[in-house]
Amino acid sequence: MKNREFHLLDMLSLVYEDMDIDAIEEKFVNIVSEIFSFDRVGLLFIKHRKEILQGKLCKGFEPGTISSINIPVSEKHLFTRPLVTGFPLWGEDIETDSFTRKLGLTNFAIIPIVNQKRVSCWRLKNCVAKDCPAYGKQWLRCWLVHDTKCCDGNESDGLDKSKICATCPVYKSHSTNSVEGILLIDNSQSGNLIDEKTIAILSVIAHAVGIAINNSKVYSSALRGAILDDLTGLHNRRYFNERLIDEVDRAKRYGSEISLLLCDIDYFKNVNDTYGHQVGDDVLKWIGQLFRNKLRKTDIVARYGGEEFAIVLLDTERDKAYEIAESLRCSVAKSPLPENENVKVSLSIGLSTFGLDANSFEGLINVADKALYNAKSRGRNKVCIT
Ligand code: GH3
Ligand code: MG
Ligand code: MG
Repeated sequence: MKNREFHLLDMLSLVYEDMDIDAIEEKFVNIVSEIFSFDRVGLLFIKHRKEILQGKLCKGFEPGTISSINIPVSEKHLFTRPLVTGFPLWGEDIETDSFTRKLGLTNFAIIPIVNQKRVSCWRLKNCVAKDCPAYGKQWLRCWLVHDTKCCDGNESDGLDKSKICATCPVYKSHSTNSVEGILLIDNSQSGNLIDEKTIAILSVIAHAVGIAINNSKVYSSALRGAILDDLTGLHNRRYFNERLIDEVDRAKRYGSEISLLLCDIDYFKNVNDTYGHQVGDDVLKWIGQLFRNKLRKTDIVARYGGEEFAIVLLDTERDKAYEIAESLRCSVAKSPLPENENVKVSLSIGLSTFGLDANSFEGLINVADKALYNAKSRGRNKVCIT
């Protein structure tokens, strides 16, 4: 192991620094291959509702060999067994299979990346069997160790053992939900020993990384939930209001031009009444998608209420904004819902422009709302300026 203190700080940074998942994973692979000088290192993650193990990153492997791996998670596959058991796999007696042969693995280890706080089996059961190989270990579980007597006095091997252990809380305390993926380390070319101590250290690091990845996932999903609308995936009203306030500030300071569109689906209640709420939802999603496709990435598009959408067009003066609003209105009016060609809807749109109609957030919303009201009262399927 090289430069222990330096790398220890690096490892801690994986957990304590705010990082996105990709950055955590990349740093993990780099640190592991630098500290331990393994011939090759690979990182694989469980995807698709925890059913598939997919290769993601590697060092030392031929490009494409790890990233092309896609294996169903099962105890039958050597590669995915640690995900099911939560137990690292290494040693001279690991059997080979098509994947290990393909990757030329003869001297390697697979370490699960666990994402939850783990209670050791001996703690869970207040076990005092100090001669058990799992005793005092965080990552080893008694039911996985063959030829050992458990603290309940059961002594058996192989399949029999898992049958007996199946009723034990230790056995059940692992599930694939508590793992993110696996770390593959390989010394097949150099033949350098991968010993138990290395596995123990890597298991602890992989555990810290698993927790960091999980935290990062929870954080970004909370963030997404706070600013996005569940149904359409567009921004929600709260985010929209905050952004509009910011953009109005910017427009005041720098004289930039912004226009606001408030769009409401005409007679939307009839769609629900005629085709059902699910089709109504499909219409909302379709319109949201159509807006996103037709507008620039920088424009702010939000679901403002039930069947109302709000759009801020940045650097856009009134005439141009009117043209854009017309084009959105026409696109919706001329095409039926892709999933059901009988479903046709139209939009009424109210437009307001900063500087011409109002000089504040509230002013812009009020004027666009009045314009929308006018579009409705003049027959719908229209764009109006007050
Ligand atoms: P108008 O042309 O005057 O706007 O008529 P409208 O029928 O669109 O307006 P109204 O306000 O009477 O009805 C709006 C409907 O939008 C009623 C409500 O059930 C429906 N709605 C609101 N949110 C959702 C949603 O998330 N999904 C579905 N399917 N319908 C929704
Ligand atoms: Mg409405
Ligand atoms: Mg409506």
